[in-house]
Amino acid sequence: MGYAYDDQNIFARILRGEIPNKTVLETAHSLAFEDIRPQAPVHVLVIPKGKYVSYDDFARNASEAEIVDFVRTVGEVCRMTGVALDAGEGFRAIANSGGAGVQEVPHFHTHILGGRGLGRMLQPA
Ligand code: 5GP
Repeated sequence: MGYAYDDQNIFARILRGEIPNKTVLETAHSLAFEDIRPQAPVHVLVIPKGKYVSYDDFARNASEAEIVDFVRTVGEVCRMTGVALDAGEGFRAIANSGGAGVQEVPHFHTHILGGRGLGRMLQPA
């Protein structure tokens, strides 16, 4: 069994242009856009254009060109939003995955959060 991809997920619809988004950066293989419910002053989602469900799906099945493009896009978003460590105060990159990871949208995405102190990574269970 593989990673079943739902073509109707909200990020698939954003990629098809069916739903508007506030684009931060678009590249050959990736799209970065503002999260609709920002949890920090900087809250950008970076997604591959390819149909990958989760981080592990992307890491195992994406092409090297897609992976390089995605990682470079994350870096560029950090620079553009002012959170990169050469000029800014830092950030958190989060990729919630699956049920235990509480992933709401089943298209791989990384949250880039910053612009304020973010506290510890996890609250005690
Ligand atoms: P997850 O819980 O899957 O890691 O995060 C999904 C994120 O997608 C949430 O932070 C949520 O606010 C965001 N989101 C859900 N629907 C939309 C939408 O239609 N547009 C945008 N820009 N973000 C969305």
